[in-house]
Amino acid sequence: MYLAGELGGFALVRTAVAQGVAAADAVAQKVRGTKSPAREGVVDLLVVGAGPGGLACSLRAKERGLHFVTIEQETRLGGTVAGYPRSKMVMTQPVHLPLYGQLPRLSYQKEELVELWQSVVQENDLPLRLGVRLVDLTREADGVFTATTNEGVIRARNACLALGRRGSPRRTGSPTPSWRPEYPPCPSGFRRLCVTRSCAPCSCGSQH
Ligand SMILES: Cc1cc2nc3c(=O)[nH]c(=O)nc-3n(C[C@H](O)[C@H](O)[C@H](O)COP(=O)(O)OP(=O)(O)OC[C@H]3O[C@@H](n4cnc5c(N)ncnc54)[C@H](O)[C@@H]3O)c2cc1C
Repeated sequence: MYLAGELGGFALVRTAVAQGVAAADAVAQKVRGTKSPAREGVVDLLVVGAGPGGLACSLRAKERGLHFVTIEQETRLGGTVAGYPRSKMVMTQPVHLPLYGQLPRLSYQKEELVELWQSVVQENDLPLRLGVRLVDLTREADGVFTATTNEGVIRARNACLALGRRGSPRRTGSPTPSWRPEYPPCPSGFRRLCVTRSCAPCSCGSQH
């Protein structure tokens, strides 16, 4: 299993791309060196996440001729970048995107980057499945990963998790604890503003 991008703790587009590419390269080397024949219904690589890390991994996997599939829980690609505020400038150092080439500029508007990724995915017919969320990933005794998603099971010899940091937390099912303290009403009749747990300033300006 490989981790790429911000999941590993480094919050940069360029690093996510470099790590995604490195993961696909490592899988390509492993697959080439292995003697076991490709098995029916088992892909070489499952890429989870279509932010910069997952997209770069997928493009490189395509370039290296891997049999792979990419899943993304959102209905759009681009990951965190796609969610930036409108027209936000994305600062990045020149970076090489497989099957596209060099992104030479130091900054791009977020829309430019997402459009560029969309066109490179379409032109290269990447097997990207949007709206598919990874729910569970286990490794079976035969070494093959079984990925459970909201749209069924995918079996893969390798997995690259490029989930970013927002993720989709697994819920425990227990009720949400209420931590907000109860304060007595403001004697001047103003509404209390709860800023932190310990401080209860009142909107009348006094610390009662
Ligand atoms: C406000 C802001 C501004 C930033 N500005 C810059 C900047 O100017 N320059 C720069 O280099 N970096 C910047 N960053 C950081 C950069 O956006 C991230 O480092 C980068 O997007 C990480 O890429 P990633 O592919 O690892 O993860 P992400 O872009 O977060 O993509 C992860 C993808 O995985 C998907 N996913 C998660 N869980 C699942 C699941 N269970 N199943 C299926 N899919 C799943 C998510 O939906 C998402 O699409 C900024 C970050 C923020 C928040």
